[in-house]
Amino acid sequence: MKIKFISGCSIGKPNLILFSVNNEGIVFDCGYQYEMPDFTKIDKEVKHIFITHAHADHVGSLTILKRMFPDANVYMSEPTKELSKITISNLEIKQKYRIPKKEIDEVIETVNFVKEGEIIKIGDNIKVLPIQAGHILGALSYLIRIDSELILYTGDISLMNLPLAGQFFLPQTGTDLLISECNFSLGEETFFKSMEKIIQIISNTIKLKGKVIMPIPAIGRAQEIATYLASKILSNELPRVNIFIDGSVRDAFKIYDRYYLMLKGYLKDTYLNVKSAGLIKEVSDVMRKDIIKSEQPYIVLTTPANLRHGPSLIYVQEYILDERSTVIFTGKVEEKTIAKKLIMARKGELIDFEGVALGKRCGVHLIEINEHGNVSDYLQLIKKSSVKGVILTHGNDLTKEFLSNIFAKDFQNIYLSVPKELDELNLELTLKVCKKMQIMEEEVLDFLIERMNKEFKGLFDERKTINEENILKWLENQEILHQIKNHEKVKSVFFIAFRYAVKYSYRDNAIDFTYPAFILENLANILEKIHGKSAIKMLFDQLNETAPKFFKNLVLKGGTMKAQLNIEISSLSKLKETLKSFEENFSRFNIKAPSIEEIKKLCEEEIKINPDLRSVYERVFKEI
Ligand SMILES: [Zn+2]
Ligand SMILES: [Zn+2]
Repeated sequence: MKIKFISGCSIGKPNLILFSVNNEGIVFDCGYQYEMPDFTKIDKEVKHIFITHAHADHVGSLTILKRMFPDANVYMSEPTKELSKITISNLEIKQKYRIPKKEIDEVIETVNFVKEGEIIKIGDNIKVLPIQAGHILGALSYLIRIDSELILYTGDISLMNLPLAGQFFLPQTGTDLLISECNFSLGEETFFKSMEKIIQIISNTIKLKGKVIMPIPAIGRAQEIATYLASKILSNELPRVNIFIDGSVRDAFKIYDRYYLMLKGYLKDTYLNVKSAGLIKEVSDVMRKDIIKSEQPYIVLTTPANLRHGPSLIYVQEYILDERSTVIFTGKVEEKTIAKKLIMARKGELIDFEGVALGKRCGVHLIEINEHGNVSDYLQLIKKSSVKGVILTHGNDLTKEFLSNIFAKDFQNIYLSVPKELDELNLELTLKVCKKMQIMEEEVLDFLIERMNKEFKGLFDERKTINEENILKWLENQEILHQIKNHEKVKSVFFIAFRYAVKYSYRDNAIDFTYPAFILENLANILEKIHGKSAIKMLFDQLNETAPKFFKNLVLKGGTMKAQLNIEISSLSKLKETLKSFEENFSRFNIKAPSIEEIKKLCEEEIKINPDLRSVYERVFKEI
């Protein structure tokens, strides 16, 4: 079982996560954002594709992935299916990859609908349960049960109760691993705080009889804001003005109308009222010309958010010279777009609208809206939950760094991983670490370090290159490195590594110490860089000191040798052979092999306490 983060870890990247279970690929989300995920990095036959919601960064490249895996089953909610049609047909990939409408329809029409709370079974050991994500109409998070482990992939979520989409609920089912987005704001701003500011600006604009133009993404935010503003008109907190919806905002609203029963937010009933009261009005392509020029003040929400083309650009061109009017952006805009120029320009500065230069006279505001929530909401959620591990994807680096620091300080019992693009995690190991993190048992280290030695000994025997860098990478990938950084763990890591290096070097009743010496040397170099020279010297001194006891245990098959490694030296000649190899390989660390006499003496002392071991002792030392 593996998870590969094909894309979506860093900001501005489309989401695509690949689970490999029983040699099958299961993809979660398949987005497009300025670019495609690197599909060539998908190294499994994709059998299932789960889409969380209809935003481009989660569904935008679905048609392309389906070209590669035409037989893959696609799962999404019914509203997501309808909204995805809008999203995909609005994308620029349509031109770049020449996706005809027919192909979009074909892919979209063959999806399997999933519903909150209805389990999807995949094969014998995987079940997927869609749960409420909030965020936008139809958005789902997926709770994935593989054997007895529970993994929750959030997609985008809202930690606050949005007017229409509602709120994400983390099920209290003992999620082992949470793979979560982290678009949470570091500041205090939430949807509602930002809306207060926007309402203030709108009130002022209406007083001046100006127009409010909101260039905005088509799906989600536009419907939330329009409904929220309409509810403020109903409660007389805003003067009665028309709220117009245009461009793809209008198309997405149609889907909201059709599936309003599936809305979860506290304004879902108001939604119907404001729609039937005509507070939110569609602008058809035919009507647009007249409506734009109408005398009355109005609010219009329209696409595209970056003013590259289309209706939003037409509205702005019409009112840029009007000092009474205001353009409000609700999120960061791309560089080199008219939207960006408009935000950056000073009053009166000329802005080039494809050949026509117009001076900026209207008001321009950027009031960022974060529907995801802020980091303190997120930490609160983690605190209340019983999740054992968290993997952060899809969010900005600053939030990730902030959360990493908090986790390191206050959530030491929760496993945290912040993967980069194309990182791959071994799911079994990760889950094992997650489960054990809360107690941080030696057992986990033991398990991992045994695996490390098994792997590296194989490579060593085949004379493949292993160096410090490979070992470091391995430790990092298996999440041991952060444990090693803890001073108290160093000794355990060092001695467990030695023990298993020995185990995998045991053959024909003797031990060849070439590999153990090699692994200890590399490990020591790594540890030295973290903890300094003196710490490493201490470890080698300790190994030197305990060497006689180690050999005694090998002969009498006692201590850890007996408990875990199940190896023994059963004749004097084998003991001599082993000691010789020890001497040859460990003298470079100033570690001496004990003498046969010394070992014999220790064995005799042990026999006094434990007479059962006499026959084992005699088998080795009978010749002396
Ligand atoms: Zn989204
Ligand atoms: Zn997203």
